[in-house]
Amino acid sequence: MKKIKLVEITGKKFVLEPRYYFFGWSKSSKILGRQSAIVALSKAEKLLPAGYKFKIWDCFRPREVQIAMVDSFKKRLRVMHPAAPPKQLKQLVERYAGKVPPPLKIERLDTHRNGGSFDLTVADDEGRELYMGTDHDDLTPKAATDYFEKIKGLTGLEREAKKNRRLLAKTLTQAGFINYKEEWWHWSWAK
Ligand SMILES: [Zn+2]
Repeated sequence: MKKIKLVEITGKKFVLEPRYYFFGWSKSSKILGRQSAIVALSKAEKLLPAGYKFKIWDCFRPREVQIAMVDSFKKRLRVMHPAAPPKQLKQLVERYAGKVPPPLKIERLDTHRNGGSFDLTVADDEGRELYMGTDHDDLTPKAATDYFEKIKGLTGLEREAKKNRRLLAKTLTQAGFINYKEEWWHWSWAK
C-alpha cells in the first residue's frame, strides 16, 4: 500500500479556517495535507495579485469527518428537497459530499482522503474573503464553478462573483490544479 505523508498546513502562508473542527465533526483544529500538494499551492499563491492569499477550509479529511459530513449534508438536502425520491437524494448527497470510502483504502491521490484536495477561496491582506456568490459547501447549482458564466443579465454583485471565481480558477489551473466542476472551492493536486 502506498504511504501518504501528511504535514500540517500553517497560517504563515495561508489563511486557515478549520470549519469542520468548528462544526464539531473533527477533533483537531489542524488542517493537514500532502506535502507535494502544499508546495504546489504555495507556488499557486504567488500567482495571486499582491496582498492576496488563499484561505483554506479543508484538505485532508479523515474517514470519521467524511461520515459526519455525509450525515449532515443528507439532513440539509432532505430539508431543501422534501419531495425528492430517495434515489435523487442519494445522487445529491454524492454530488456534494462524495462517498464514505472503505477503511484503510488508498485510492487516488487527488482526494480529500489523501490530503490532495483543498477547499479554498481567496482572501485580501486583512483575511477578508473575496465575494464568490455562495459560501463554501453551498448545496445548490450556484456552487458550480461556471454558474455565473452561463447566465445572462448578471447583477453587479454576480459580476463580482464571476470575476473572483475566474481569478481563483486562473491561478490554480495555471499551477496545475484540477477543479471539481460542481464546487468552485474544490481544487485537487494529483501528483
Ligand atoms: Zn472539497
